[in-house]
Amino acid sequence: MSTNFRELLFTPERRAKAEAWQKTLRERLGANLPKHQAEITYVLGVSRERMCVRQILALEQEPEAGSVQGHERMMFLMNQLAEGLAMQARFREAAELTRSQPHREEYLRKAEALEARGQDCRCPIEMTMPSAFDAKGVTLPARIKCEVIFDGEFLVTLSHCQFCGGLLAATQ
Ligand SMILES: [Zn+2]
Repeated sequence: MSTNFRELLFTPERRAKAEAWQKTLRERLGANLPKHQAEITYVLGVSRERMCVRQILALEQEPEAGSVQGHERMMFLMNQLAEGLAMQARFREAAELTRSQPHREEYLRKAEALEARGQDCRCPIEMTMPSAFDAKGVTLPARIKCEVIFDGEFLVTLSHCQFCGGLLAATQ
């Protein structure tokens, strides 16, 4: 389990990328400018990742690591770590690390949406619903914006298509 987490997070590519981010992030987030909530979430995700990694490494050294309590604590930390990665839009890694099946499914869904960023399901953009007040019905947008996320570089809007149930990602 911990090996998996090391392979995932401590690769040379990941380290290089993390270092490259630092500068951009300082420029973008360090300035005293209003920030989008998604950017704040991202920064909190970076802190959460660091904190969890520290705690996981410490727990591995403790004698209680092999006990039931140690195991439960590790599960908890892995879930927290996965959430920290998800807060940085790192959904593939989050899906691999979480011990919660519903969360894994949600992370995978978002990972797939992000990987297909800019693609559209080609459903109509509006839908007409029956209305008690208007015989012609009421026309509503078929895409419901559900979330804005920041991936370290771009703000990405996730929308839910009411026709096909697809999750669509578009860079703002
Ligand atoms: Zn659709």
